Amino acid sequence: IKVAVPKETAEGERRVAIESSVIAKLSKLGAEVLVEAGAGAAAHLPDTAFVGATLVATASDLYQQADIVLKVQPPSDAEIAQLKDGSVLIGMLQPYQSPERLAALNAKNITSFAMELIPRISRAQSMDVLSSQAAIAGYKAAIMGADLAPRFFPMLTTAAGTIRPSKVIIIGVGVAGLQAIATARRLGAVVEAYDVRAATKEQVQSLGAKFIELGITAEGTGGYARELTAEEKQQQQEALAKHIATADVLITTAAVPGRPSPKIIPESTVDGMKSGAVIIDLAAEGGGNCTLTQPGKTIVHNGVTIHAPLNVPSQVPVHASEMYAKNLLNFLTPMLKDGAYAPDFSDEVIAGALLTHEGKIMNAAIRQLVE
Ligand code: NAD
Repeated sequence: IKVAVPKETAEGERRVAIESSVIAKLSKLGAEVLVEAGAGAAAHLPDTAFVGATLVATASDLYQQADIVLKVQPPSDAEIAQLKDGSVLIGMLQPYQSPERLAALNAKNITSFAMELIPRISRAQSMDVLSSQAAIAGYKAAIMGADLAPRFFPMLTTAAGTIRPSKVIIIGVGVAGLQAIATARRLGAVVEAYDVRAATKEQVQSLGAKFIELGITAEGTGGYARELTAEEKQQQQEALAKHIATADVLITTAAVPGRPSPKIIPESTVDGMKSGAVIIDLAAEGGGNCTLTQPGKTIVHNGVTIHAPLNVPSQVPVHASEMYAKNLLNFLTPMLKDGAYAPDFSDEVIAGALLTHEGKIMNAAIRQLVE
């Protein structure tokens, strides 16, 4: 069986879906690994790092031979056109964002697996790309906040006086938020955090941060948050504004699966912030948590910088690729038996990730979006 990894073509994407230790393990499972020449260049993985893989000069050559294609970003129309009929595609296929792409995959009978759809059960933690990539984004968000702020993060006692530490507030304490807390704390900031899920309080405190208590909880299903009612949203915004007025850096990561990012920070809240304060809106991909956010841009509003980067994991391409490739390996391993592709579609992890198969959209929620 040939497992193939093309060079990513999406603009700004620096990650690659393979790494040297993963090549060795796939080979051991009986697969032949093909990698497009230059696929790892942007992630600082030269072709010489792909020991054990066969280098293929062009993408079209690679797709022609591939039984299983490993990708980071969803394929472009041109890439779908090159996929071999009936082949297997595994990647972060963003099914909620562009379900219309699935018709083209089905027209070619592609069996596709969206890594984002893997159920978040304990057994699947090692395959959880949402977690691995969110941890990277959370780390980087704290670093970006420190970089853009006109103040130090840590308390400093110097001959020129004592500098008070910065206050960092984190809204949305999922995987990214927790990593942002840990990183901001390591840089010496005083950290406060808020989430609608009550379970996060203990996690926030265990990282040495203070939990902001608002008395609104909104647990959804599967450990996720639900959307707030209009009244709850109003209450939340007013109560949070008072806390946010004291922040030097605000990092927002709030998300509800399959929905646009909740708007938690209205213009009036930004108006109440200190001059020089910084907002890092990690929810920019879903439109942002701040109403002033312009996804992909950095703006300044009344002295407050609002930075809304897209595809943050790609800015840490070495480790993002390494972690992503390992997630893929852990997902693929149970499907490879004696060098053959033999998925057990009754397995809840495999069935959960299955997006298209035999010409049909297999995920009920995504099917509803298209129909
Ligand atoms: P996410 O990216 O979907 O959302 C980020 C955070 O935003 C969440 O904590 C959510 O509660 C919060 N949020 C949503 N609306 C909000 C609002 N209006 N105000 C404030 N906060 C709001 O979350 P995630 O990082 O993907 O994690 C979601 C859950 O999945 C967590 O419970 C996490 O522990 C769990 N999880 C489980 C596994 C596993 O067992 N395999 C792996 C990773 C994460």
